[in-house]
Amino acid sequence: MIQIATAWLLLLPVMFGIGWLASRWDLRLENRMDERERMRQQRSTFKGLSLLLNEQPDQAIETLVKIAQLDPETIELHFALGNLFRRRGETERAIRVHQHLANRDDLKPRDRDHAAYELGRDFLRAGLLDRAEASLNRVGEGQFAAPAKESLLEMYQVERDWKKAIIAASELEGLQGKSHHTEIAQFHCELGQEALLRKDLIEVKSSIQQALLAIPNHARALILQGDYLVAMDSPAQAIEAWDIIAQTHPAYMHLLADRWMAAHTALDKAEAGLTRLSELLTTQASGELLDIVQKHMTKIRGPKATEVMLVDVMQHSPSLSALSKLAETRLVLAQSNGTAERVADLQATLKLLKQRTTSLARYTCGNCGFRARRFYWQCPGCNHWEAYSPRRSEGAVPSGPSM
Ligand SMILES: [Zn+2]
Repeated sequence: MIQIATAWLLLLPVMFGIGWLASRWDLRLENRMDERERMRQQRSTFKGLSLLLNEQPDQAIETLVKIAQLDPETIELHFALGNLFRRRGETERAIRVHQHLANRDDLKPRDRDHAAYELGRDFLRAGLLDRAEASLNRVGEGQFAAPAKESLLEMYQVERDWKKAIIAASELEGLQGKSHHTEIAQFHCELGQEALLRKDLIEVKSSIQQALLAIPNHARALILQGDYLVAMDSPAQAIEAWDIIAQTHPAYMHLLADRWMAAHTALDKAEAGLTRLSELLTTQASGELLDIVQKHMTKIRGPKATEVMLVDVMQHSPSLSALSKLAETRLVLAQSNGTAERVADLQATLKLLKQRTTSLARYTCGNCGFRARRFYWQCPGCNHWEAYSPRRSEGAVPSGPSM
């Protein structure tokens, strides 16, 4: 009996050992299974990425969605998926993914800000501007504060809510440490322009002051100041404001040249106004200003004086538009005292020149290359402010968007 009991006592440690080994084996088995699962997920992620790189986004999304379902903790993967959906125009799915992240209580503040920012972008894309504004305003201080503010600024411009745009641009200056004065001056000018249409002259004056405070001698603010002074029945002061543009931004003079002539005419000084504009033509090879000077000179001094002026322009700054204006003026002269043959010749030349100048003359955005027949303060292509050169180009630019 004692021998049996001793044998059992000896067996006990062996059994403990076997038990311990079995538990280690289980653990290793479990670890190996975990490892296999991780490898499987890794392989799926790589497969998803490879499909993305091979531009098979449909299959890539399918693979990545499966991983996200298996492991809901994969935050970065959810962000990647949400952005992928948005880029593909599937905004509803993007909103669902980002909303799910934004509603999670266990996220770190950085991830929560990231989710609110992405959700705001989704709502913007979907045109749900109120919800976009609310979501973007939820983004706290941190690395997503500046991008969120940029999106808000973009949105306020689309809504033409210039007052909110001014506040957002000022706050963005603080966040980025870079100047947004050009935009701020333009937003004040937009407010001033709208107030001028409603004849709210007090608001016009204050907007101009704010714009000039943001950028002294700002061309658009000075143009508006002249318009305001004309509306206040002070053409002499309007001319003074516009004369600052003639001195500091002469390339913009064509934008106000007709009003400049009207203000001079009101003061019985049309001749002096015309002389000043003609002087500018000697330093400004501006086809647009030439159009206006030619029109007023023909009326005030007659076609012969206009021909002399145009010959002079053709000598120092030859261009297709100047040649076209010269042909136009010579046609007027020939119609009164030329032969029928000369009139027919000039008509044919003028037709050809006009076809060329109309098809080629465009304002071009210095930022995105968008070309347009009329001048814009904000490019319709890329939304940049003051990206358009105030002068039309006459060169052929075959590629690039245009209108
Ligand atoms: Zn542009």
